[in-house]
Amino acid sequence: MHDRTKTLFIETVGCQMNVLDSELIVGSLRRQGYELVHDATAADVILFNTCSVRAHAEEKIYSALGRLRRHMRENPDVVLGVLGCMAQKDQEEVRRRAPHVDMVVGTGQLARVPELVEEVKRTRAPQYALSLGRADGGKDEVTASFESFDPPRDASMRPTPFQAYVRIQIGCDKFCTYCVVPATRGPEQSRHPDHIVAECRQLASEGCKEVTLIGQTVNSYKFDHGERRSRLSDLIARIHDIAGIERIKFVTNFPKDMTDDLLDAVRELPKAVKYLHVPVQSGCDEVLKRMKRLYTVGSYREMLHRSRERVPGVAISSDFIVGFCGETEQAFQKSMGLVREAKFKNSFIFKYSPRPGTKADDFYADDVSEDVKKRRNNDLLAVQNENSLEDHRSRIGQTVEVLVEGPSRVGERQPTGGVRQLTGRTMTDHIVVFDGHDRLIGQSLTVHIREASPFTLYGDAETGTVEPNELNQRSATTVPLTRRVTLPLI
Ligand code: SAM
Ligand code: SF4
Repeated sequence: MHDRTKTLFIETVGCQMNVLDSELIVGSLRRQGYELVHDATAADVILFNTCSVRAHAEEKIYSALGRLRRHMRENPDVVLGVLGCMAQKDQEEVRRRAPHVDMVVGTGQLARVPELVEEVKRTRAPQYALSLGRADGGKDEVTASFESFDPPRDASMRPTPFQAYVRIQIGCDKFCTYCVVPATRGPEQSRHPDHIVAECRQLASEGCKEVTLIGQTVNSYKFDHGERRSRLSDLIARIHDIAGIERIKFVTNFPKDMTDDLLDAVRELPKAVKYLHVPVQSGCDEVLKRMKRLYTVGSYREMLHRSRERVPGVAISSDFIVGFCGETEQAFQKSMGLVREAKFKNSFIFKYSPRPGTKADDFYADDVSEDVKKRRNNDLLAVQNENSLEDHRSRIGQTVEVLVEGPSRVGERQPTGGVRQLTGRTMTDHIVVFDGHDRLIGQSLTVHIREASPFTLYGDAETGTVEPNELNQRSATTVPLTRRVTLPLI
């Protein structure tokens, strides 16, 4: 007699790193016989892969855990786990606020999830797997306690088979004063380039066309082989040689580490996407200094100028934090001025959220009211939206190459005769919506831009040249496999 299928539910909050971690966790549990379900109360194992960057993300998880309290009491065989950043940073708090949680597993211990699930089932005793805190040992010891989690991939576990995140670096050593990441993800470590290239080759052989290389400060990537050093530009060049890979992206960049060799690689290598996400955070030097961002507005401007000179047509996006400790109206107006002038493709704007354990929380007062933070957020967004619209309008009439990602989320119209609104991205990461058949998903095709909004380009696809193939059929039926609470990405 067969066992009943074991079921798994996972909810993911936060950045690309977490999305990738969840994909890999689902893959490893599937190998143990689990099937993914989309309703937590129908699952034998319920996992939350968490984010600590802002308080809001944590509160969402505590609410979800609270809603499961009764379910856990009534279903004593179910396993409930909290994984990722909150687990690493706040294990005591998770235990206190959600005593019905069975497993708390930090970002550096995710490989142990299948084993710990079995352990909970066998013993019903809570299981904890955490790496050392940044001050809990020598650097080597702390580094060793954060293991990169890169098990073999399973193509069917990705939302789309033709796109994949590839981790090239874990952790962060920049210690910006507002940020929890150095604590939750541990010391910066770059993966061996041979392992990254092997993973990309494997992905390509499974039909993957676009890889996004991810790291907290991805352009600080460096791997020393004795005398010789591999940089991000070297890595991109090696991935560029892999047949089948059509696009190479990388996020997120640290402004100070935007070197000329990287910019030259982006310009010279046709598969490198002409898009750089380089968060500035503030347009005011005093604020940047309090944030310990290690650059000035002047040097950021120089980096913007150099990037645009060396990579003609490159699109650049940024992140901003508004209402950081001591941000006066005058300081905020400098951020407004920078957004006006810098012509970012888009900006992700966040209200400062004090994070216990960070330098800013220890040493500076959170002295900008919530109302002012909200107003500054809206003001900055309004200027950014004007710029995005201007940028988008300048593209009307152009013909662009789009990698088709799937049905458009903004699409209001129902499909007719198999044709619906599809979405994809250009080589400058601009979002394009157009009408097309599902079989185009996963294909690169030419689109004529006809209309623009601040967020989207609308166009007409030239479909005559595209032949459906096996990958199209597969991608057309593929659905996102892990549920995701959408928060802004890094
Ligand atoms: N490593 C990337 C960098 O340095 O640009 C960013 C990583 S961080 C997880 C993503 C974004 O969240 C940051 O760029 C910043 O704008 C925002 N962020 C980080 N800590 C924050 C905090 N305490 N409050 C509000 N926003 C925050
Ligand atoms: Fe956080 Fe990015 Fe600063 Fe690292 S570089 S501490 S991840 S904001």
